[in-house]
Amino acid sequence: MLTYEQALTRILHATPAPRMAVVPLKASLNLVLGRPVMARGDLPQFDNSAVDGYAIRPNGHASQMPLRMVGRAEAGRPFGGRVRPGEAVRILTGAPVPRGADAIVMQERVVRRGDQMTIQEWPAPGQNIRRRAEDLRRGTRVLEAGTSLRPQELGLLAALGVARVPVYPRPTVAILTTGNELRPSGARLKPGQIYESNGPLLHALIRQVGAQPIDLGVCRDTLAALARKVRRGLVCDLLVISGGVSVGEKDFVRKAVVRCGVRPLFWQVDIKPGMPLFVGKRGRTLVFGLPGNPVSVFVTFEEFVKPALSRLMGREWQDPYREPAILRKDLRISRTRQTHFIRVRCSQNHPLVAEPMDGQGSHRLRSLVEADGWIRMVSDDGPWSAGTRVLVKRGSA
Ligand code: AMP
Ligand code: MG
Repeated sequence: MLTYEQALTRILHATPAPRMAVVPLKASLNLVLGRPVMARGDLPQFDNSAVDGYAIRPNGHASQMPLRMVGRAEAGRPFGGRVRPGEAVRILTGAPVPRGADAIVMQERVVRRGDQMTIQEWPAPGQNIRRRAEDLRRGTRVLEAGTSLRPQELGLLAALGVARVPVYPRPTVAILTTGNELRPSGARLKPGQIYESNGPLLHALIRQVGAQPIDLGVCRDTLAALARKVRRGLVCDLLVISGGVSVGEKDFVRKAVVRCGVRPLFWQVDIKPGMPLFVGKRGRTLVFGLPGNPVSVFVTFEEFVKPALSRLMGREWQDPYREPAILRKDLRISRTRQTHFIRVRCSQNHPLVAEPMDGQGSHRLRSLVEADGWIRMVSDDGPWSAGTRVLVKRGSA
């Protein structure tokens, strides 16, 4: 049986290199830039007014007051003429500074009577002018390849006139849940039936990573039905299946995917929860068969599916277990599995204090919700006493 590290390494090796695509700017949020972006123009594009006021020549003489109003400049509507000594142009924020003018006086600082205007305080040259290219000069490298695009990067790119950006696009991830006992939420349950929860859980996890979930629905535990649905999922970048991957008589998932031409990479990993994990590949599509217990789904997604998705999206995968903490209480885990993923609650001390939670069973969604961190422990290294230093993965994603 593979160890946790071996399984992760195999998955990362099997994950295809990311492919760049050019997408509309608005569709690029949280995606990674595939190429650097250069400024194709200056920002601001032209000298313009930072205030509502009057454009004047500061080197003209104060003695020439009152100044005479000779025109008007608005954002998007420049004044075509030239400002001469003794003259002023009414100007609104964002309007191009007229030729001849080199300062803007705020309208609160002037006294205006009809076409005549006096200024209380004569401005310094350049006052209230936003200079062309003061933010960015044409040809500057604005964003590096590998940058994750946040709202602020999108704003900057839009200001530069960029309409489409080269990124690693969102992978498509098909979700297939399996089990004769599963009913959708809202339905009436017959004896022995339960609500289907892995589908919504996976859908949310996939969206949270920034990938595109595609729901294939719930499938009954028959080879034929599974194979039909699996074929539909194989057109996606990833196919994630929950349940049916263990050793029960109704666990047909491995058989079904192999029938559809999927080459197995491995089955079973020496971890708890999540041991029966299956991973295979057909063409560029990776196929994950996650064990059906909800916590196993969560752990195997976080530990194995997420790294693959990150690579497909051009992000570097970093081990998320990196926050130092100390154990609040003794911890003893079974040696039947090598690597254990354990839900903890952290207190906000420095360093953190992590308390392993009661109820670590792989069916226990409640402790999944109440936990705010995870530790990853190798059973041979234990048992651990209270006060032991550990590394915590914080949050859920
Ligand atoms: P399996 O891996 O198919 O043997 O399922 C393991 C356990 O997880 C069983 O108790 C199933 O009822 C449960 N389970 C499987 N799939 C789901 C699902 N989509 N939603 C909720 N529970 C599930
Ligand atoms: Mg099942």
